[in-house]
Amino acid sequence: MTMPTPLRASPPPASPTPLPQRILVVENSRTHARLIGEAIEQKLNLPVVYAATLAEARAALERHPDWFMAVTSLVLADGSHDEVVEFFLSRQLPTVVVSGVYDDVMREQVLRRQVVDYVLKNTPGSIDYLVWLVQRLERNRRIAALVVDDSRSARQHAAALLSMYGFRVVEAADGEAGLAMLDANPDIRLAIVDQEMPGMKGHEFTRRLRARHARDHLAIIGISGTSDGSLVPRFLKSGANDFLHKPFSREEFFCRVSQNIDQLELIGTLQDLATRDFLTGLPNRRSFLEHSERLLAQQASSEVTMAMIDIDHFKHVNDSYGHEAGDQALRAMAQALHAHTRPGDYSGRFGGEEFCMLIHGIDRAAAARHLEALRAAVQALEIDIDGRPLRITISIGACQRSPQFPNLHKLLSEADRHLYLSKAGGRNQLRGLEPD
Ligand code: GH3
Ligand code: MG
Ligand code: MG
Ligand code: MG
Repeated sequence: MTMPTPLRASPPPASPTPLPQRILVVENSRTHARLIGEAIEQKLNLPVVYAATLAEARAALERHPDWFMAVTSLVLADGSHDEVVEFFLSRQLPTVVVSGVYDDVMREQVLRRQVVDYVLKNTPGSIDYLVWLVQRLERNRRIAALVVDDSRSARQHAAALLSMYGFRVVEAADGEAGLAMLDANPDIRLAIVDQEMPGMKGHEFTRRLRARHARDHLAIIGISGTSDGSLVPRFLKSGANDFLHKPFSREEFFCRVSQNIDQLELIGTLQDLATRDFLTGLPNRRSFLEHSERLLAQQASSEVTMAMIDIDHFKHVNDSYGHEAGDQALRAMAQALHAHTRPGDYSGRFGGEEFCMLIHGIDRAAAARHLEALRAAVQALEIDIDGRPLRITISIGACQRSPQFPNLHKLLSEADRHLYLSKAGGRNQLRGLEPD
């Protein structure tokens, strides 16, 4: 039996080696440097270091070991154009060039090197574009991309572009190998698929990919050199998100890839908005109820306990510490709840200062011990409100599934009845799981 994936409240644990975050902005105009740097710092919360010359850039790079990328002007007091580009590329630093003048020849020249992008400054939207670009590159580092193409040179070309944009790249020479790669690398979110391959054709490979990976999980971009007009619709109908004609320009490639990845993230954000409580990050009531229904149906024979949890005298917290402090207490409570949610169990914010937890696979006594530990942990919390300690307690009402309380509705109302009893009994206690 497959278990539903438990939603976890906090973001996934940080990778063991944190990715470098520091961005070097190299620009002889202080004003423009600040404009770029402050936008990056404020909107993306990434640390920015400034340099006005190559000499200052060199000193900055030596001062810190952990650089993510450079945004540089092409004309500096101690170097220009090729020298500037060479300076950063020779240090293996992803580099974005900004220029004050539009010059087709220079643009072509710069983009022939491994520069990520060439951005015109002082045009409407150029700062927003830069911020978006930095954010895209930053996020790409956590995404793997798959290139499936039988032509080695075409495959390596696409792979080199994708690595330049920060992706971790996996390559396959045919459809069968591509499917195996996908199974072995669950972090793949993007597939670039050639049409003309011996054996499985690109659109057939796409159809098989799509059968396993939904659109909110994997973006597929087809590529082909033929001018056969029926190919694009065939690819799209097989489940591809987009299509590129060979030969494509680097810029077009980057735009398509980014747009499709942006969309994937947007779907994720929307799903998150629909299922998570904004204040605490916990699953919201609807999500909790849906999940509980599913779990109850799937675990028809195992032990299941429903718990309703309510913060005691919470109105008093708001009244004496302020609403903002109340919010902080709710977040602290959510964290404690999350920390006490066993793998495979589920908890959420039911509403206001009320939380809920569904426990399965342990008997009444073990569930009672578990909830009692949660109650004690919350009592022991010391929430710091501007230097003033705030303590809270919770009352819990619980109910274990039995022939008398067989479904979600019955479990919830019985847990709620016990919650009421623990309030009436003096609060800061658990009711409903006493031994028979
Ligand atoms: P009891 O021990 O009987 O549960 O008392 P109580 O004060 O906790 O219960 P009551 O239902 O009277 O008050 C709940 C309070 O929780 C009232 C409401 O303003 C507050 N509250 C609900 N949601 C939020 C929120 O998101 N933030 C803050 N700061 N307060 C909230
Ligand atoms: Mg081919
Ligand atoms: Mg309360
Ligand atoms: Mg309440």
